[in-house]
Amino acid sequence: MALTPDDLVYSATARCTCGAGLAHPKTASTNGCWDCSEILLGTARRDVKHIARLPFIFYKVSSENHPSALRATTRPVLAGAPL
Ligand SMILES: [Zn+2]
Repeated sequence: MALTPDDLVYSATARCTCGAGLAHPKTASTNGCWDCSEILLGTARRDVKHIARLPFIFYKVSSENHPSALRATTRPVLAGAPL
């Protein structure tokens, strides 16, 4: 089943080399990884380079849900969505 942005936790500021925010499924365990959000969504372009997955245990990526993010997020803003 395809994931949607609502199924993902986005990073506060860290992005893939393609420009999309990093993300992980909300259901990810502590053994999970940060990955390109567009790869997770199945919308990634194939003609650009994407980062390798970043396992949580090796990489400290600030999530949009962390208080220190001060509501920063790499989550794409949907057209017409209230801010
Ligand atoms: Zn990417």
